Amino acid sequence: MSDDAASLAAGLVNGERRALARAITLAESTRADHRQTAEEILESVLAKTGSSIRIGISGPPGVGKSTFIEAFGNTIINAGHRLAVLAVDPSSRRSGGSILGDKTRMIDLVNRPEAFVRPTPGGTQLGGVARRTREAMLLCEAAGFDVIIVETIGVGQSEVAVADMVDIFTLLVSPGGGDELQGIKRGIMELADLVVVNKADGDLAAAAGRTRADYANAVHLLRPKWDAWSTEVLACSALVGDGISEIWHEVEKFMAAVTASGELATSRADQATAWMWSEIGDTLMDRFRADASIANMIHQTEAKVSNGEMAPTKAARVLLDAFTENR
Ligand code: GDP
Repeated sequence: MSDDAASLAAGLVNGERRALARAITLAESTRADHRQTAEEILESVLAKTGSSIRIGISGPPGVGKSTFIEAFGNTIINAGHRLAVLAVDPSSRRSGGSILGDKTRMIDLVNRPEAFVRPTPGGTQLGGVARRTREAMLLCEAAGFDVIIVETIGVGQSEVAVADMVDIFTLLVSPGGGDELQGIKRGIMELADLVVVNKADGDLAAAAGRTRADYANAVHLLRPKWDAWSTEVLACSALVGDGISEIWHEVEKFMAAVTASGELATSRADQATAWMWSEIGDTLMDRFRADASIANMIHQTEAKVSNGEMAPTKAARVLLDAFTENR
């Protein structure tokens, strides 16, 4: 292991935030030497990972995710935990950086020593972002954070990527309006272990109660993900702080149930293997695209496919054959 990796790994397991931040930056880097160092760090701290509660939080824009994570995060820290907040944001909707990097989000949390809030990694490809977020999650665990929140911004495939890396997936919804109105697809509902109706306060309180009942009916119709757990629907007000500690209690109940049934261990083992395979896929793709010996062929073949001279299936095979022949 390089000196750089060894000293960062040592700092990281000591809980040094700068070492953790640097290790995550290396993991997010596209430079091969950086990735190599990150890999060495991860390898050496791997035994110290895996003991956190991994929570995914998702919901349409404006539902109150950052307000909720702030309130929920403070509750978690007050219960004696150390919390890391990461994000998967494939859309990179703001120029020059991430939404989580926005200083106006989660201001209290950012300033608490027990919290580590990491801005969204750059890059627009979901696969790439999810890949780095998984590594960041393990690095945070090794640094002693025992609760990890992974937030997804926007609705779509990113939910699936996040559900594949966390233990409990939480969907935030607003009072009133069905899923279609809120842009929530059935597939996303099926991922949810907890549904939380936020904004249950003031004028919205009554609507929140009805929405909660609607969702409670809807989740009963879905195929359960776990033997030991059926999806719960709760209401809260992130703004006022009502119902937040009940949600944390529910997360603890969930963890106890799926740990006792053995399903948590199985789920994590499946996630780790799936991660390996997606890593193989991504790395192969990177190598393929960077391969000098087929670089000129790619262009020509693409042209032939686009003007209808060659079938896409044949083109793919020709390129892959050329790639493997050069090994
Ligand atoms: P995000 O886009 O999902 O991160 O949502 P934000 O946390 O930025 O919140 C969007 C808006 O909803 C803001 O104006 C918040 O003040 C408001 N909001 C968030 N939580 C609540 C809540 O519990 N009750 C009410 N009434 N408003 C809330």
